[in-house]
Amino acid sequence: MAACVVTGGAGFIGSHLVDALVARGESVVVVDSLRSGSEENLSAHLSGGRVRFIRADLLGDGWQSALFGTARVWHLAADPDVRQGAFTPGSQVHQNIIATWRVLEAMRMAGVPEIVFTSTSTVYGDAKVIPTPEEYAPLEPVSVYGATKLSCEALISAYCHSFGMKAWIFRFANIVGKRGGHGVIHDFIRKLSSDPRRLEILGDGRQSKSYLEVAACVDAMLYAVDHAPDRVNVFNIGSEDWIDVRSIADLVVEGMGLSGVEYVFTGGERGWVGDVPRMQLSVQKMKSLGWKPPFGSRESVERAVAAMLE
Ligand code: NAD
Repeated sequence: MAACVVTGGAGFIGSHLVDALVARGESVVVVDSLRSGSEENLSAHLSGGRVRFIRADLLGDGWQSALFGTARVWHLAADPDVRQGAFTPGSQVHQNIIATWRVLEAMRMAGVPEIVFTSTSTVYGDAKVIPTPEEYAPLEPVSVYGATKLSCEALISAYCHSFGMKAWIFRFANIVGKRGGHGVIHDFIRKLSSDPRRLEILGDGRQSKSYLEVAACVDAMLYAVDHAPDRVNVFNIGSEDWIDVRSIADLVVEGMGLSGVEYVFTGGERGWVGDVPRMQLSVQKMKSLGWKPPFGSRESVERAVAAMLE
């Protein structure tokens, strides 16, 4: 079986995907600049012969030849920091839109027929329908990150219809777990490690969102790729409930064995510019295909806290 290519495979979700692909007997070429990922995330595989690591930036050259002979590219590399998009929007335009276009061009040149893309709930913006289904409109992102991911989805769709490719586009809720290097749990652990008496919480703590543990997320992607046959397949991936930020703080405090921590809220219903205070995705389409989330948001967060503190 020809190796597949995973961009961003040294990152949080990417490295779990690589674990799962190797467990299925596949060979994998990882292309990653290590901008936020780490070779350590792949350490279980690097001497095993199944995973080849190419350290390269998708915005540069030298990696494209790895796509020849590949049947599928899993394109996860991105700048995933929603908050940072309000300060350095150009980074996400380049790391997300331009990098995705370059991946599509490299695929076209190498004749690679299939792409899997990791999109986001933020393409829906402040959705008026919750749980939000895939066909919700208008798609009106409120963050630069969401806008860049929606642009990527549009480019991928156009390449599929123009050049005979096939795509699976996954709009993730918040994905959490071991090796997580950004997001609310990571942020709280980092802050409490430096000051265990006080925790700054962005916003009013009532932002309520859906969380899914990373292994379940990878399982959902693999299931959909194996079972969804359309030219462009778009699926939400998340759990079927939500949890608020204050409850996540409580779980992190408890997990770290702390007590009497003072919560300091920065205030406002949004934690940052571009934050979406209420998010829960409908996963009915995935359920109709035959996959359902194995647990809810609270258990996903509990498992992630335990794994990240380990
Ligand atoms: P991550 O930062 O851990 O992984 C991204 C990886 O991409 C890193 O290893 C980084 O080094 C690499 N990368 C970034 N820019 C690159 C470039 N130009 N060239 C080569 N490599 C590059 O983030 P993650 O949380 O694992 O996210 C993976 C994907 O899932 C991203 O596309 C992200 O937008 C998407 N996503 C994540 C979540 C979440 O909750 N974690 C939610 C929705 C969507």
